[in-house]
Amino acid sequence: MDVSIVVPLYNEVENIPNLYDRVSSALTAHSFAWELILVDDGSGDGSGQILRDIAARDQRVKVIRFRRNFGQTAAMAAGFDAATGDVVIPMDGDLQNDPLDIPALLSKIHEGYDVVSGWRKDRQDTFINRKLPSIIANGIISRMTGVHLHDYGCTLKAYRREVLDGINLYGEMHRFVPALASQVGAKVTEIPVRHHPRMFGSSKYGISRTVRVVLDLMTVMFLLQYSTKPIQLFGRWGIYTLLAGGVSGVLTLYMKWFDHVNMNRNPLLILTAFLLFMGVQFIVLGLLGELNARTYYEAQGKPIYVVRERMNFE
Ligand code: UDP
Ligand code: MG
Repeated sequence: MDVSIVVPLYNEVENIPNLYDRVSSALTAHSFAWELILVDDGSGDGSGQILRDIAARDQRVKVIRFRRNFGQTAAMAAGFDAATGDVVIPMDGDLQNDPLDIPALLSKIHEGYDVVSGWRKDRQDTFINRKLPSIIANGIISRMTGVHLHDYGCTLKAYRREVLDGINLYGEMHRFVPALASQVGAKVTEIPVRHHPRMFGSSKYGISRTVRVVLDLMTVMFLLQYSTKPIQLFGRWGIYTLLAGGVSGVLTLYMKWFDHVNMNRNPLLILTAFLLFMGVQFIVLGLLGELNARTYYEAQGKPIYVVRERMNFE
């Protein structure tokens, strides 16, 4: 098997037959073998029967059906786990992505890249609540992770399978895979891809996704930089807060002795107490984090490094 295409589907019944036709007509002309993994994320619109029919007709189509709606990331993760291809290509099931772009993604993989991200250069979504938040989010994610992509949110991407093996997805993390992958040494690039307006069904997301993406970004940033050394983050905050508390305390005493300001009339006293208290909290949080990091890595036998190759180790 060469290529596995993974499609998450939630209430896309009108799109499924078209999706299957487009994928098979786009790929049949090419020489590589492929499988199409359709993941039904708890649809309640009769998708199940259509999926069953297609799977019965074509052995290249594999179907996974969830018991309830677990979300796009979970659906994609299920597809990734089931994929047997050397290259895994996730794609939206609403026909907004175009399977005709798959050969171009593959040729970048053959050039030696591990992750090729689609860039919806001419994105067919509304501006205010979809494109604008996305421009801002891509800027922030690129800056924070150091992996500069125009379009993290595009589902159409290509991954060399080894890259996905080491990555576990939670929440809405599917968009961060290129950043997570580059952290373990993957070579990442992007190419412009087509994007079509949604013809059938409705988008499953609105502006509220922005909040979720921001929270996930915080998680990813923390994991990328501090998952093996949480005290370096919390401890630093703790020390700065303690120092600020010390300064504020000294100032309170100075004002008492030299300006004759009663301490109990001085708001700085409360600030001092808060800062010292917070400082201790941060440090303790960091220490608990260290304990958790050890549990996390040691319980799974997970190394804290990634090896490219070893020599003379037989
Ligand atoms: N999707 C899913 N589970 C969900 C929400 C969405 O599997 O809980 C699928 C959906 O069917 C589609 C893809 O994820 O194939 C992208 O969703 P959508 O088109 O609504 O997102 P947008 O293109 O509007 O960002
Ligand atoms: Mg869509």
